Amino acid sequence: MTSSNLMNTLEAITADITKLDVDAIVNAANSSLMGGGGVDGAIHRAAGPELVRECMGLGGCPTGEAKMTRGYLLKARHVIHTVGPVWHGGTAGEPELLKSCYTKSLQLAAEAGLHSIAFPCISTGVYGYPADLAAQVAVTAVRDFIESAGSLQRIVFCCFSERDQVLYDKLLNA
Ligand code: ADP
Repeated sequence: MTSSNLMNTLEAITADITKLDVDAIVNAANSSLMGGGGVDGAIHRAAGPELVRECMGLGGCPTGEAKMTRGYLLKARHVIHTVGPVWHGGTAGEPELLKSCYTKSLQLAAEAGLHSIAFPCISTGVYGYPADLAAQVAVTAVRDFIESAGSLQRIVFCCFSERDQVLYDKLLNA
């Protein structure tokens, strides 16, 4: 489902993010940036070994921050690595940190003049963030950023399940 204004398109799709033809895909990384399981592992496998080599030079990434690399063997030209919060019940700053992941990633993309970006459902896998609450944070963060989106015309929420897609469709149509 899509919601758009003259400048931007926000959409939720269900897909393997490693297959998307966008300027940047966002990786739900861990703070080492050296790869891991879930979407992180899938992105590193699809991008090839050059990606971890570039990541080695970045010195890790704190929770809520984002760093950009090239996309190597991916269709996506860039990977924006961000580190979501681990869910500890919601009172340890998780919503602010998760929002920051989206905002910082969008800032990097806009600063680089990119036109399209796709996000996975950050923190909702191994990191345990409840999917419905995470989707609310994600959509709010992107909507709050729209005014500063600059070159960014297409922002995709790349779900990996029908259940997540339904959550995003509801929010985007609200
Ligand atoms: P985190 O550690 O931030 O929770 P995970 O990789 O465990 O990260 O999960 C984040 C989200 O990414 C989950 O919703 C998971 O279903 C999804 N995911 C896993 N693989 C892919 C993929 N190839 N494309 C898109 N999303 C994926």
